[in-house]
Amino acid sequence: MTYVIAQPCVDIKDRACVIECPVDCIYEGARTLYINPSECVDCHACEPVCPVEAVFHEDDLPPHWEHYLTVATEYFDEVNRPAQDRQVPLADHPLIDRLPPQSRLKADISVFAVRKEEAADADRWFPS
Ligand code: SF4
Ligand code: SF4
Repeated sequence: MTYVIAQPCVDIKDRACVIECPVDCIYEGARTLYINPSECVDCHACEPVCPVEAVFHEDDLPPHWEHYLTVATEYFDEVNRPAQDRQVPLADHPLIDRLPPQSRLKADISVFAVRKEEAADADRWFPS
C-alpha cells in the first residue's frame, strides 16, 4: 500500500510533505512531487500537512485522479527516476509535463493553511 500525490500539487510543490516523511520516499520533479510506491511505508504522516489536499491513500483517490497511482509507478519504473538525489528536481512524468499551468488562485490560497479546502477546490476540475 502507498500514498499518492495527485494533481493539486502541480505547480505548488511547497515540500511540506517531504519534511514529514520518515523514510524519505518523496521525490521532487520539475512541477510536482512523487511518492515512490515501493518505498512508502503507509504511515499517513504526509497527508494532513498538505495545504492543497493533494495526498491520498491509494484506496481513497478520487475517481478523476485514480491515474495518479499509475503516474507514480511509471515515474519510478519507466521514467527511471534514480533513487539518489531526492531533493534535485528532475523531469516530470509525461502526463504532468502536458498539463497546462495550474491555477494561480490555488497557489495564492495555499499559503493559508486554514483555507486548504478552498485551495484544493481551486482547480479540481481542471483538465488532467
Ligand atoms: S505515507 Fe508515510 S512513508 Fe508514505 S510518503 Fe507519506 S510520509 Fe512517506
Ligand atoms: S505538501 Fe502537498 S502541495 Fe506540498 S509538496 Fe507535498 S503534495 Fe505537494
